[in-house]
Amino acid sequence: MQKLKSQPDKQGHFGPYGGMFVPETLMSALQELTAEYDRARKDSKFKRELDYYLREYAGRPTRLYFAERLTRELGGAKIYLKREDMLHTGAHKINNCLGQVLLARRLGKRRIIAETGAGQHGVATATVAAMFGMECVIYMGEVDMARQALNVYRMRLLGSKVVGVSAGQRTLKEAISEAMRDWTTNVRTTHYILGSALGSHPYPMMVRDFQSCIGREARRQILAKEGRLPDAIVACVGGGSNSIGIFHPFLADKKVQLIGVEAGGRGIRPGDHAARFAGGSLGVLQGTRTYVLQNTDGQIELTHSVSAGLDYAAVGPEHAWLRDLKRIEYTYATDDEALRAFRFLAEKEGIIPALESAHAVAHTMKLAPKMKKRQIVIINLSGRGDKDVQQVAEIVKL
Ligand SMILES: *Cc1c(COP(=O)(O)O)cnc(C)c1O
Repeated sequence: MQKLKSQPDKQGHFGPYGGMFVPETLMSALQELTAEYDRARKDSKFKRELDYYLREYAGRPTRLYFAERLTRELGGAKIYLKREDMLHTGAHKINNCLGQVLLARRLGKRRIIAETGAGQHGVATATVAAMFGMECVIYMGEVDMARQALNVYRMRLLGSKVVGVSAGQRTLKEAISEAMRDWTTNVRTTHYILGSALGSHPYPMMVRDFQSCIGREARRQILAKEGRLPDAIVACVGGGSNSIGIFHPFLADKKVQLIGVEAGGRGIRPGDHAARFAGGSLGVLQGTRTYVLQNTDGQIELTHSVSAGLDYAAVGPEHAWLRDLKRIEYTYATDDEALRAFRFLAEKEGIIPALESAHAVAHTMKLAPKMKKRQIVIINLSGRGDKDVQQVAEIVKL
C-alpha cells in the first residue's frame, strides 16, 4: 500500500479524485474560504470556540456505548455504538454546521444558505443560523418538501426561509444546483454550508475535519474501555461525512478494518439503488470528480434508497481514493436489510436508529457473528430514527 496522505493537494485532489469543477464566478469564493479555513484551523482561539459549542450546545463528547444485548444476540464480536444520535438535532450533521457557521462569522458573512434532501442538514443549518442570529435560506426539492413536511415546518420555526426547487427530479441534486446559483449571485454576503464531504475543494477536506471529532473521541474511548483499538469500524456512506469522520483518525492503524456501507436499495440495477462503488463509474458531479451513478452518455441516473440521507448519485472523493488504496472497504445493505436492522436495534437495545445508520447495523449483523468473541466492532450510529418512524410505519405493519 502507498503511504497514506491525509491531505489533498492545493487544488483539492485526492489522487485522481476531487478538485474544483465550478464556474469561474465561484473560484474566488472557494479560494477565500480555503484561505480562511487554513488560518482558522491553525488558530487556537477558533479551536477553543468550536470545542465550546460542540460541548455546550451540541452535547459532545457522545457516548461509546457497549451494546451488550446486541452482542449476545449476534453471538460474535463485542459491539459498541458511537452515539451520534444523542446530539442536538439528532445526528452528526451539527458538528459540521457549527464549524462552518463559525467560519462564516470569521469571514464577516451574515447570510447562510444550504441545500437539503430529507431535511436533516437543513434543520441542523437552520439551528446554528438561529443560534448565531444569521439570515438563513434553505433550498429543497419540491418532492422532498412534500415527503418531509415536518422538517420544512421545523426549519421555518427556526426562522429560516425554505425555497422549493421545481427543476428536474425536484430532489437533492437540483437543490444543490440552486444553492450554488444563489452563492454565485450573493457570494460577497453569503456562506454556503454544504452538508457532506462532497462538492468542490475545500468542502471534502473541511467537512471531514469537522466530523473527525467522532473518530478522535471513539479512539480515546475504546482505549479507555478496552485498552486496545477495535478490530473493525462500520459506518453508512451517503456523501460520506459521518463515515470519513469516524474513519479518519484510524487510517494509520492498519489493523483496524474500516467498512463503509452504501445504500443497496431494491438491488444493484440502474435506478434502484445508490451504491456508487457497486454500480457507478468515474465522472464529475457538482464540483468534484468521483464515482458517480451515470449511464454510458454521462447522464446522471436516478437513485433510490429507503433512507433519503443515502440517496445521492455521487460519493465523496476521498472515499474513492481510500478505496483505490484498499484502506477502506465498501459494501452495501438493501432496503429490506436496513429495515430489519432498524427493528432489531429497537427491540434489542431500545434504540431506534436513523434508517441511514440502520445500513451500518445491517452489515454488522452479517459481520459480527463471523468474528471471535474477544474481537471488537464499533458502529457509527450517525443519527436517531424519530424522523423515520412514520415512513417505516407505512411499510411495516405491527
Ligand atoms: C445525512 C445523514 C447521513 C448521510 O450523510 P453522510 O455525509 O454520508 O454522513 C447518514 N446518517 C444520518 C443520520 C444523516 O442524517
